[in-house]
Amino acid sequence: MKRILSLDFLLAITFFTITVYGNVKDGSTREKYKVIIVGAGISGIGAATRLLSNNVSDIAILEASNRLGGRVYTAPFGDFLIEYGAQWVHGQGGNPVYEIAEPYNFLYVQNGDKSTNFVKHSDSKINISVVSSWLFDEAYDIFSNVNDMMLCNCSMEHYFNNKFNELIKNKNVDEYTAQAVAEFAKKGERAEDAVNNLEEEGSWGTVQFFNPNGSLTVAWKTGYHAFINILMGKYEGKELPVKQKTKFNKVVQTINWTGDEVEITCEDGSHYFADHVIVTVSLGVLKFSAKTMFNPPLPDNKLTAIESLGFGLLNKMFIQFETRWWPLDFEYMINFLWTNEDKQRFKNESKYGGWTTEIPYFHFVENQPRILEGWLSGDTARLMETLPDDELTGAIIELLSWFVGNQYSISKPINVTRSAWSSNAFVRGSYSFRSLKSDYLGYSAANVLAEPLLFNQTNPVILFAGEASSDRSFGSVQGALETGWREATRILNF
Ligand SMILES: Cc1cc2nc3c(=O)[nH]c(=O)nc-3n(C[C@H](O)[C@H](O)[C@H](O)COP(=O)(O)OP(=O)(O)OC[C@H]3O[C@@H](n4cnc5c(N)ncnc54)[C@H](O)[C@@H]3O)c2cc1C
Repeated sequence: MKRILSLDFLLAITFFTITVYGNVKDGSTREKYKVIIVGAGISGIGAATRLLSNNVSDIAILEASNRLGGRVYTAPFGDFLIEYGAQWVHGQGGNPVYEIAEPYNFLYVQNGDKSTNFVKHSDSKINISVVSSWLFDEAYDIFSNVNDMMLCNCSMEHYFNNKFNELIKNKNVDEYTAQAVAEFAKKGERAEDAVNNLEEEGSWGTVQFFNPNGSLTVAWKTGYHAFINILMGKYEGKELPVKQKTKFNKVVQTINWTGDEVEITCEDGSHYFADHVIVTVSLGVLKFSAKTMFNPPLPDNKLTAIESLGFGLLNKMFIQFETRWWPLDFEYMINFLWTNEDKQRFKNESKYGGWTTEIPYFHFVENQPRILEGWLSGDTARLMETLPDDELTGAIIELLSWFVGNQYSISKPINVTRSAWSSNAFVRGSYSFRSLKSDYLGYSAANVLAEPLLFNQTNPVILFAGEASSDRSFGSVQGALETGWREATRILNF
């Protein structure tokens, strides 16, 4: 009895230690590998699969969270699945994600036409027919005019305002409609590029992004997670041992690279050693910890690149209703148009502070007949992460009621969820963008961020991958994949 009691006591102490202090310190682990990959997002998985399929199997992946995928995060919600992170394959020809996945029959082209379903408040002065017939399409095209953007070499705000003023000059567009469309187009662009405001986004760097041919909204029938399985060879019957090579809940704290052997120390006290380390953590994590993570410190130009390249925030919210209340002929999205006056009135009346005026639109989610998905960028997206579910639900219903409450009977919301990429300590934002500052300094990804740290001027001991280190596909899954491949190949070629 006494023994049992003391065992119970020990178990209780252990449980208390784990729950109160997190991971128990693991000072005893000291393992050595040829290559260690930090991070099991698409970039880390891409690097691992390239190494494994080239017979380099002495590898480990240290992943801070408890799952594979990083910013590819498919989860069950409502009647099927949702994507908290990456949703579409952007482009077909020339996009390796599309080219690898296409034969497996998991992809389909989704209707991505934004120029439908503009809504305004019933008293608003906006002329919807002008918006739908031509104004929105032409305004939105301003963001596709690569040559003009490159020549401007200015902020995206400055670029858009100039072009938009040219567009409406001598046209029959009233000031309310013009202002509402300009605001909507900029809000949509802010969400897509995950920036807080277009003043911080550089037009020159932004157009370095390579848009592959074909549809920019190719979706996954069973979620983006299927791509991870494809990369690992799961459907080929010869799955590469990526999962087995991954050590989950390993938060890398320091990377010591004084010689040709690198020592990694994790938050739980465990130590790992390697000849080469591929760092794939997000630019958000690098911004937060690059100065303390590396010993000796990173070179000044790399620290400046980390500081000056942009890492923004896009969050999604999903609301499930008891029944689908919007009509079947609604296509794809509900786009909200505001005049300044409408917005002020809404804010004055709002029970929730009026932050929802920053939501550009709600999507319909395929295979999810009762769910709407809203997008939000920047500071408001950060605020949204902190709201309790009932407040989030109330604010969304308030917004929908303001716009379409008098046309449709909005059914009862039964569930809500949202992404929280900014408060995720292992991401700290959503994806990278080219800032005015990085444009000004001429710091693209490949010329500074992606440069490896060399021992004896030839041996790449610390290598940098991850979407932000891609010159032409930053902010995307294909960028993450290509950079993982790039750094694995660098090691294979050494
Ligand atoms: C809301 C949202 C929507 C998006 N939509 C699209 C889209 O439609 N199409 C598209 O192509 N792209 C989209 N993206 C971008 C795309 O998801 C990313 O570019 C890509 O997934 C990044 O992969 P990565 O491997 O570079 O980084 P990550 O996925 O961030 O992987 C890095 C890994 O490192 C781990 N890590 C971090 N710190 C540590 C540490 N200290 N120790 C150990 N491990 C650590 C993290 O947990 C993570 O798993 C979207 C992203 C977001 C957030």
